Amino acid sequence: MSAARIAVIGAGVVGTLIARELTRFEVEVLLLETQPDVGWGVTKANSAIVHAGFHDAPGTARSQFCGEGNAMFDELCAQLSVPLIRVGSWVVALEEADLEVLNRLKEQGEANGIPGLEIRGPAELRVQEPALNPQALAGLWAPTTGITEPWALAIAAAENAVANGAKLLLGHEVTAIEVREGRTWGLTANGLQWSVDGVVNAAGLYSDRVATLAGITAAPLTPRRGEYVLLDKAVGELLRSVLFPTPNPASKGILVLPTVDGGILLGPTAENLPPEQRDNTDTTADGLRATIESARKLVPSLDLGRTVKTFAGLRPESPSEDFEVGPTEVEGFYQAAAMRSPGLTAAPAVAKWLVHEVIAPAHGLARRAGFDPRRAGITRPADLSEGEWEALIKCDPRYGRIVCHCNRVTEGEVLEAIRRGARTLDGVKFRTRAGFGRCQGGTCIDEILGILARELKVDPEAIEQGPVGSRIVCAKVRP
Ligand SMILES: Cc1cc2nc3c(=O)[nH]c(=O)nc-3n(C[C@H](O)[C@H](O)[C@H](O)COP(=O)(O)OP(=O)(O)OC[C@H]3O[C@@H](n4cnc5c(N)ncnc54)[C@H](O)[C@@H]3O)c2cc1C
Repeated sequence: MSAARIAVIGAGVVGTLIARELTRFEVEVLLLETQPDVGWGVTKANSAIVHAGFHDAPGTARSQFCGEGNAMFDELCAQLSVPLIRVGSWVVALEEADLEVLNRLKEQGEANGIPGLEIRGPAELRVQEPALNPQALAGLWAPTTGITEPWALAIAAAENAVANGAKLLLGHEVTAIEVREGRTWGLTANGLQWSVDGVVNAAGLYSDRVATLAGITAAPLTPRRGEYVLLDKAVGELLRSVLFPTPNPASKGILVLPTVDGGILLGPTAENLPPEQRDNTDTTADGLRATIESARKLVPSLDLGRTVKTFAGLRPESPSEDFEVGPTEVEGFYQAAAMRSPGLTAAPAVAKWLVHEVIAPAHGLARRAGFDPRRAGITRPADLSEGEWEALIKCDPRYGRIVCHCNRVTEGEVLEAIRRGARTLDGVKFRTRAGFGRCQGGTCIDEILGILARELKVDPEAIEQGPVGSRIVCAKVRP
């Protein structure tokens, strides 16, 4: 008898981790993604925090999976060679009324089983975070808060899933799901049809539409935009931990936090957009102004002259304000939908629960021998000692040619990214950090474009920045 076939729709951090988890079992795994690469949806633009788990009320899927997911990150990131720094976080009370909120969050966190929560006074705050507003009255310290690179986790999980036998189908938008006699039967993408035994809906901002394809009534998701300002590494020493204000009903508030590569991130705002604006990641003058004003309440000395980038992400907000995960009334159709914040943190726990507790028993899946949880990252000379780098150059001189000077990325890394599947400038950027630094690609873009064209044996005009239709070379000016 041939193995069951399960399709996962969406290669964001949630879908890639689910696909990887499925490869622990005797099952054929298809991972279908509309975009030409992995992790280009909600996963690409967010705060990148591995949340401790005190922000959400006990009894919600968000609180349950956030705490469990946080505890899984050390092992997961070590297995997949993804950066994780447990920087800890403060929720800062700037006014008397905020003190009560700290107590409430601490109680809520403890009810969620979050370890190490403590409220500390202004003297300690000043020692730990000297740049924090001197008017801060107290802070709720959460030692288990971490920072990571969500897109790197999605890329690594997809690579590991493929190494364990999953089939990744990029540029494949699922447009139909066939349900017969109340159970999933097949699906269609790019005019091709597959018969399937199960379908997992991990389609992020589009998960309501994918549910509808299976005949499930899903309330429309609201894209809730969050705008950000990214500051250069040159000012990265300013803080150590994630700084939250006290939360508001729409979000955790506008934060100031370090990034894993040494920059500082300010944001996000929280603005509901109409359901049809699911691609609207424009930044706005009002949004950026609000971001800066709120961030300066936490850290007054922020130097906005060090801004390297502004960007926006969209949270998939469901009316229930919770994740929609688990089996549905359609046999074989599973939801990993509406994964708004803290969906990145929760993703490993959702993947584990859905696969081990729901899908495997429902389809009678047996464990597969030979699953390998490890995936090696791309070697980064910038992280090596001088001696190690020299040894690497001796093996391959292309690791001695720097193409991105801001982040010291070499031609060797760009070639390795292409070997692993990068076909666009963003594909190289998200795998190597080339173009992620101070100049945002201003000085390296043409060289990387040339390497892509050379290696892929196409004209430079054919190379895209990211999504289909984002070509940046229009034509040759000379033959
Ligand atoms: C502003 C903001 C801040 C956040 N901050 C944090 C944070 O600090 N910590 C945290 O834990 N979480 C945070 N989150 C939440 C977190 O980013 C998300 O929960 C997570 O990235 C969702 O991943 P996903 O895989 O569900 O969705 P996505 O990354 O959007 O992946 C879904 C994929 O499905 C694909 N797709 C859609 N329709 C189809 C189709 N028909 N066929 C094939 N493919 C399809 C899409 O192209 C997309 O790539 C934040 C989110 C935002 C927006």
